[in-house]
Amino acid sequence: MTEPIENRIRLMKLVRGKLPELDKAGAEFVKASAEWNKARAEWDNASAEWNKARPERDKACAEFVKASAEWDNASAEWNKACVERDKARAERNKARAERNKARAEWDKACAEFVKVRAEWNKARAEWNNASADPAVLSLHAKECPNCPWNGRTILP
Ligand SMILES: [Zn+2]
Repeated sequence: MTEPIENRIRLMKLVRGKLPELDKAGAEFVKASAEWNKARAEWDNASAEWNKARPERDKACAEFVKASAEWDNASAEWNKACVERDKARAERNKARAERNKARAEWDKACAEFVKVRAEWNKARAEWNNASADPAVLSLHAKECPNCPWNGRTILP
């Protein structure tokens, strides 16, 4: 049995006639092959760049995920702080209103005390005048003999 390669060499012969269509197609095939090889080389370069950039890309991606989580945490903390600030503000306003109300009540009570004291002083003065009246003392001496009351006090 003859070797396949030797068979091919023996059977293959150069074309002697002109085949313009085939020549043209062949030339276009060569040109297309060159373009294909060029495109392939560009693709390989781009793939290599892509693969080379992958660690950076993965790192950036991981950092983005981490930063997002930190942002979410910070947002949650911020929202919580806002709620607590609003609550503290409401409590401060409530305490301030209660203090103002208590102060108003205290001022009112003081004014009433001053008024009552003035009335009491006036009533005492009237009582002192009335009990020291000579007609009252004379009537008391008749109706209540041997009584220590002198018009001012019963315990002199
Ligand atoms: Zn008396």
